[in-house]
Amino acid sequence: MAYDDGNIFAKILRGEAPAFKVFEDDYSLAFMDVMPQVPGHTLVIPKDPTEDIFHANPVILGQTMATVQKVGEAVKKAFDVPGIMIAQLNGQAAGQTVFHLHFHLLPRSQGIELQMHAREMADFGELETHAARIKAAMA
Ligand code: AMP
Repeated sequence: MAYDDGNIFAKILRGEAPAFKVFEDDYSLAFMDVMPQVPGHTLVIPKDPTEDIFHANPVILGQTMATVQKVGEAVKKAFDVPGIMIAQLNGQAAGQTVFHLHFHLLPRSQGIELQMHAREMADFGELETHAARIKAAMA
């Protein structure tokens, strides 16, 4: 399957769709998932048009992972959780719904279950507050 630049993350990268951004550098962007599985659910994407991990340039993948590490640490601090789950889906059969490579950062605590994947839209005011908390944790 060829990369389709009509996907929602490509639109966010072009500024054609809104996002609650938490971090950006030359290679990658991090923003809040609008249908979070847990409060603080954050996504990290490369700026390069890449549909999944198998199509990624290894150098760009490395740059993106540096952002995953940096933002993951900030999410852990901002949400004061003992664990961060990092998830990444490749292909429809694996549950991928947006075909631009992305990493899910999910704050985890014992006894707090994850909500269903990509089901319920969050309150935008809350997402804005969460993004601000993560940005502050990186400062
Ligand atoms: P996946 O199923 O791994 O492809 O995950 C796609 C993720 O993107 C899901 O968790 C969705 O909730 C999330 N998502 C879809 N549209 C948007 C959007 N406009 N802004 C932020 N996150 C989104």
